[in-house]
Amino acid sequence: MSYSKSIDNAQKFADLALKRIQSDCVMPTPENYELWFVYYAQSDTELVKEVNKHLKKNNDKLTDEQCYEIFQKFLSNHREEKSVQQAGDQIKKTIDDVNVAVTSAKQYAVKYNQNLDNVNKELKTNKTKGEISNLLSEVMSDTDNMIGHSKHLEDMLEHSNREMENMRRDLEVARKEAITDPLTGLANRKAFDQELHDLMLLSNGKDVHSFSMILLDIDHFKKFNDRFGHQIGDQVLKLIARTLKDGLKGRDLAVRYGGEEFAILLPETNIQGGMKVAEILRKEVETKELINRATGKKIAKITFSAGVAEYIRGEANDDFVARVDSLLYKAKDAGRNQVIASK
Ligand code: GH3
Ligand code: MG
Ligand code: MG
Repeated sequence: MSYSKSIDNAQKFADLALKRIQSDCVMPTPENYELWFVYYAQSDTELVKEVNKHLKKNNDKLTDEQCYEIFQKFLSNHREEKSVQQAGDQIKKTIDDVNVAVTSAKQYAVKYNQNLDNVNKELKTNKTKGEISNLLSEVMSDTDNMIGHSKHLEDMLEHSNREMENMRRDLEVARKEAITDPLTGLANRKAFDQELHDLMLLSNGKDVHSFSMILLDIDHFKKFNDRFGHQIGDQVLKLIARTLKDGLKGRDLAVRYGGEEFAILLPETNIQGGMKVAEILRKEVETKELINRATGKKIAKITFSAGVAEYIRGEANDDFVARVDSLLYKAKDAGRNQVIASK
C-alpha cells in the first residue's frame, strides 16, 4: 500500500494509531498498528467502513479478535495480491526479454544462412586463391559472430530460468505466508475457510464423506494475560498451537481462528471420532506444566473449552460454524475445561 502523504501527516496517523491501541487496550502488534494507521490515513475505504461498523456496535472500541479479523480480511489479502501482481509483472518482463533475444537470434540465423548461400554461389564461379581465402575469412567471422550470439541467447535463457525459479520460490513463500498465522505458525482462518469449503463440497457429493469440526477457546485467558502479561500469553498460544499440531495427524487441519480461539477440521471423521480427538487434546493441554523461565515458578494451569460437531449434509457453512460455536459456549457455561458435542 502506498502512502503518498506528507511526513507530517504520516506522523499524525502514527500518533493516532498508537493512542488508539493504548486506549482500546488491544495488543500493540505490528498488525494492529497497521490496521489503525490505514484507518486514520483513510487509504482503504472498505476497511474504514468495516471498522466504523464495529465501533458503532461496540461502544467505540475494537477487541483484539475484531482487529485480527479485519486485518485478515483487508490487509493480509492485500499483501498477497500485491506480491502476486509483482511476480506477474516480473514474469512478463522476463518473457519479453527472452522474446527479444530469441527474435534477434532468429534474424541473425537467417542472415547467417543467407551469407553462407552467397559464399556457396561465389565458390561455384572461378576464384583466385586470394579471393577464396577472403571468402573463408568472411565465413569464419560470420560463424564466430553466430557462436557469440548463440552463447548470448544460451546465457540469457539460463538467467531467465534462474529468475523464474526465484519467482516461483517467492510466490510459494507468499502463498504460505498468506495462509499462516505469524505468531503460532499454525494455518490461519483463510486456510480454514478454504478447507471447510473443500470438505463441504466432498460431503455434499454422491459418496459418503463425514467430517467434523472442533472449535476451542482458552479459558479465562484475559485474566491470565492480565496476571502474567501478554508476552507469556503469547507463549501460551504457541504452546497450545504446538500441542494441537503434535496431537493431530494426516489431513487434520488446526488453525488459529481468532485471538485465543482455535479451530480443527477432521476429514473422514464422525462425531465419535471428533469427540475423542477433542478430549485427548483437552487432557494434553490440561496436563502441560508451564514454568515462568524468569522466576522458575509454575504458572497457573491452562485449560480450554470446546464444541465439536459433525457436518450435516446440505448444512450452510455459517450454520455449521454457528452450531459448533454454540456448543463451545455451552461448554463455557457448564464450567469450562470440557468438550461438548452433538451430531
Ligand atoms: P473465557 O473463558 O470466557 O473464554 O474468557 P476469556 O478471558 O478467555 O475470554 P475473552 O474473550 O473475554 O478474552 C480473550 C482474551 O484473549 C483477550 C485478550 O487479552 C486475549 N488475547 C486475544 N488474542 C491474543 C494474543 O494474540 N495474544 C495474547 N497474549 N492474548 C490474546
Ligand atoms: Mg474468545
Ligand atoms: Mg477465552
